[in-house]
Amino acid sequence: AATGGSTTVRQVKLDKECELRIETSLDSPLRLRLLTGTAEIFGTEIPPEIWLTIPPRLKFAVFTWYGATIEMDGLTETDYTADETPMISYINVHAVLDGRRNRAKASPSDSDTSQGPRVVVVGPTDSGKSTLSRMLLSWAAKQGWKPTFVDLDIGQGSITIPGCVAATPIELPIDPVEGIPLEMPMVYFFGHVTPSANIDHYKVLVKELAQTLERQFSGNAESRASGMVINTMGWIEGVGYELLLHAIDTFNATVILVLGQEKLCSMLKDVLKNRPNVDVVKLQKSGGVVSRNAKVRQKARGYRIREYFYGPSNDLSPHSNVVNFGDLFIYRIGGGPQAPRSALPIGAEPAADPTRLVSVSINRDLLHLVLAVSYANEPDQIISSNVAGFIYVTDVDMHRKKITYLAPCAGELPSKYLIMGTLTWIEN
Ligand code: ATP
Repeated sequence: AATGGSTTVRQVKLDKECELRIETSLDSPLRLRLLTGTAEIFGTEIPPEIWLTIPPRLKFAVFTWYGATIEMDGLTETDYTADETPMISYINVHAVLDGRRNRAKASPSDSDTSQGPRVVVVGPTDSGKSTLSRMLLSWAAKQGWKPTFVDLDIGQGSITIPGCVAATPIELPIDPVEGIPLEMPMVYFFGHVTPSANIDHYKVLVKELAQTLERQFSGNAESRASGMVINTMGWIEGVGYELLLHAIDTFNATVILVLGQEKLCSMLKDVLKNRPNVDVVKLQKSGGVVSRNAKVRQKARGYRIREYFYGPSNDLSPHSNVVNFGDLFIYRIGGGPQAPRSALPIGAEPAADPTRLVSVSINRDLLHLVLAVSYANEPDQIISSNVAGFIYVTDVDMHRKKITYLAPCAGELPSKYLIMGTLTWIEN
């Protein structure tokens, strides 16, 4: 039963294979510790005795394989114990993946068999895709593997801010509070929170990311054998479904985990039936997954962007910088006015190239936009380049031709080429 509302320190005894599902309060953190037994948060074991401070608004579960006592201190929105979870089926998947990693490791010289599992996690919104991805990565890291986490979900973004496709190696179980470590993520900026804003551009970025990882793997047997876990979007109908197939193809996926949707699973089984090296596996959705409506998702995006600039526990201080218009070169991809028919060779049809690079002149429309700083050396490399980070435009002074922006650190930007989309943020 839900027992929110109490501020006193309290203990919860969990039987084996049970979990304590918690939503922390909207404005205050929760302290939690493991008193007896063993327990994990989304695949990462929690240390005994030590108080963990869980930030506000987090939805998570403390699961135990063999039984545990948990102590909590602070308010929660809800907390309740569940004895029915799909965890056994999830750990069984992990065991199969682990076997494949071992086989890959045993044949390092063969380019085919040395490749560990490439797992794509699919399912509708709020089916627990990010959570399952995280558990599989943490369990693998605990075993000493260095799997690569690929996040194609531009709507939320668990590696960096929304509007990006990104990848990062996971070398240690993911910290329940700090999240994915950000030492060396490979990030491509799409700039919109839904792929329908520019499907072709989205596909180009997914392909660039896959090719970059493929190059890295070719020189790194350990990463190669560890494989990848690829989180996808909850958009699974129509074009969303096409994009799933595109991702499966582009990353040469070998295992597709389908969460909580019979129809999607049978569709994928059918279209992939001629590929004996691809397994499509249906998994049950956890009853603990919390549904989020459009408004909650939008808020979560704002928090993610805030976190980028201010840190997960408000521990970073971003810098405000003022530069001249002429110091920055801003581009967007696709759209914009087409060439007039009169400017085209006779017989040619005007076509809007969705991946065309368009130079943007600086004006007040840039206010509150989040822009990406490209690693490109030349404008024509922008579309295929990953990004160094992001800035947030806080003022545009048309009179003095100066632009003010927030950046995670002081000093000059790593490049003068910026990419603009439709990603905005209102700081509050
Ligand atoms: P999206 O539609 O954004 O792709 P998703 O399918 O990836 O969502 P998750 O992000 O994994 O879903 O889960 C949704 C929310 O539910 C998250 O806040 C997550 O922390 C929470 N959650 C998942 N599993 C549990 C659980 N067993 N107990 C409590 N909370 C959970």
